Amino acid sequence: MVDKQRAENAVRELIAAMGEDVEREGLKDTPERVARMLAELTAGYHDSAAEHLSKTFEESGSALVLERDISFSSTCEHHLMPFFGKVHIAYVPSGKVVGLSKLARVVEVFARRLQLQERMNAEIADAIFRHLAPRGVIVAVEAEHTCMTARGVKKPGSSTVTYAVRGEISEQAIGLVMSLVGGKR
Ligand SMILES: [Zn+2]
Repeated sequence: MVDKQRAENAVRELIAAMGEDVEREGLKDTPERVARMLAELTAGYHDSAAEHLSKTFEESGSALVLERDISFSSTCEHHLMPFFGKVHIAYVPSGKVVGLSKLARVVEVFARRLQLQERMNAEIADAIFRHLAPRGVIVAVEAEHTCMTARGVKKPGSSTVTYAVRGEISEQAIGLVMSLVGGKR
């Protein structure tokens, strides 16, 4: 859990380092607000993907299951700024499937940490592959990184796309998921 007092002190120090008056009206409660927010943004460290993926039900078919447009917001570990966007998940079950809301919970588990997009993408794919044991899974992530767009390094709205494949998944399924990338937000 976040050491709130320590986080508050650090934020107070950060504000002072920017030459601002920590005691002025608009800023005096900011350290406490930021500490509370950081606890929420990193709640994923105390949540378990294995648990969300443990409530499965039997499914004898092997149709592709696709959950698209799962919104997320995470925190870039290089700049402590948000990156946000969508995750698309497709898997071919091997006897068991999971409630669709559980996939969104798994995304939250890994998004609510200090992250890199590539690692979050890999962790989601690994968790599904390990705990749900499908024949194959593909996870695509498209995100806008505010550490880039807020500074003007990249234009707002420009996104970074990554994807990870585990197990056996057809080219057709990969094509299907990748065709969703760049859809309207
Ligand atoms: Zn960054």
